[in-house]
Amino acid sequence: MKHVSHWIDGSPTGPGDRVAELFDPANGQVSGHVTLATREDVDAAVEAAARAFPAWRDASLARRAQILFRFRESLDAHRDELAALITAEHGKVRGDALGEVARGIEVVEFACGIPHLLKGGFSENVSTRVDSYSIRQPLGVVAGITPFNFPAMVPMWMFPVAVACGNTFVLKPSEKDPSASLLMAELWRRAGLPDGVFNVVQGDGAAAGRLLEHPDVKAVSFVGSTPVARHVYATGTAHGKRVQALGGAKNHMLVLPDADLDLAADAAVSAGFGSAGERCMAISVVLAVDPIGDELVRKIVNRVAGLTVGPGDDPDAQMGPLVTAAHRDRVASYLDLGVEEGATLVVDGRKTPIRGGGERGFWLGPTVLDHVPPGSRVHREEIFGPVLSIVRVRSYEEGLALINGGEYGNGTAIFTNDGGAARRFQNEVEVGMVGVNVPIPVPMAYYSFGGWKASLFGDTHVHGTEGVHFYTRGKVVTSRWLDPSHGGVNLGFPTST
Ligand code: NAD
Repeated sequence: MKHVSHWIDGSPTGPGDRVAELFDPANGQVSGHVTLATREDVDAAVEAAARAFPAWRDASLARRAQILFRFRESLDAHRDELAALITAEHGKVRGDALGEVARGIEVVEFACGIPHLLKGGFSENVSTRVDSYSIRQPLGVVAGITPFNFPAMVPMWMFPVAVACGNTFVLKPSEKDPSASLLMAELWRRAGLPDGVFNVVQGDGAAAGRLLEHPDVKAVSFVGSTPVARHVYATGTAHGKRVQALGGAKNHMLVLPDADLDLAADAAVSAGFGSAGERCMAISVVLAVDPIGDELVRKIVNRVAGLTVGPGDDPDAQMGPLVTAAHRDRVASYLDLGVEEGATLVVDGRKTPIRGGGERGFWLGPTVLDHVPPGSRVHREEIFGPVLSIVRVRSYEEGLALINGGEYGNGTAIFTNDGGAARRFQNEVEVGMVGVNVPIPVPMAYYSFGGWKASLFGDTHVHGTEGVHFYTRGKVVTSRWLDPSHGGVNLGFPTST
């Protein structure tokens, strides 16, 4: 049985005393153990990162970029291995795991351009023979705390940019699927990253809590559920750290009567049930504007009937299991709740046939609830599983009000053939990432990813130029080299002349 532990100062550590079980979600069996870091383990990782910082911040931009290029090549060569680790612990199907690795690699490719990204501004002669220029410098040791649903991609939203900027990094991955983090650490080592620049501590909330209060950690990037994101933001900032904390989501897709209904149905099913709905950008609510509701639901139900559910390493499976038994039970509890609240259960995922039998895994098939009452718990709460709710609305305005009235503001999409309506939607909707006939509008690496309202605490989104900004602080230098014309003592406030 495998044992997953930390990676500190360039090498893996031995097993610790406190451990948690790892599961294969497809068969429910224990597949190994992960060490849960003690306070001393976290301190050792932060110390290693602090020791490595002075030399790494002084490494030339050319050297940092070369290491990033090698890391990118190494990741590319190990896509399959990384995807297999993700499938084994998370459960998502292989194609989906490869997709998450690809999106993570894109952030590394973005970070390879760090010499360009860190270019400052220069103004000659702001005052007579005085020049002014801006530079951005790394913060020091920075930390990332990441969720179970993207064990490779979400850490790669953070650490390629942080490390490229000259920081050293401590990653605390989810304790549910920790193995990908160790392979990425090994690939950094092979790429020539100096020891201590990238470290991993495995663990739960206790390990994360130590990072939030450690005086040598200068910034924390967090991605996870909203209650924890809110706590991480409050605790980290109370300890004087820069914090970006991305939280949960409840993403709505508004389908106007003029939309291409086949495209909309394909999109709703792909975005609702991909990765078993365990994506922060999953579509969980379809707002069907009258009179297309019945036809759209018919098209969605037909497509759901054709989905193949099975273990992630089965090449024919399109959707895998949920991550744990407890999470499956929580998600499944929304089916009865939805009916109690007045919805119609048109597809019951508890009855879905599972390839290979699925007796012991953490299974729940794709579920569709129609006529979900607006404002009900099933409509409002993040379920984070394969449950698609259809809410019938009478107009664009009614749909928009439901989206803007919600707690979250991560992603949303409008489906229409009316450019004017789409333009109005992108202007009026209070959501950070908007799709027009695109159901999962995840920004490319060179834009920044982040939601609004309870989907993000802090003001800086991840990766792209906002990521570079988050992991650096600005400095402006005003400089004069002596020449014979300097004017002697002047106690007045400097102005340009
Ligand atoms: P989670 O909040 O349970 O855990 C996230 C991380 O926080 C894990 O590493 C966990 O160990 C750690 N943690 C747990 N308790 C903590 C505490 N008290 N203090 C500090 N850290 C603590 O989330 P999860 O179940 O792993 O992931 C699913 C959630 O993540 C969903 O709500 C989903 O919407 C969200 N998510 C959001 C985004 C986004 O970009 N907004 C992306 C992916 C996932």
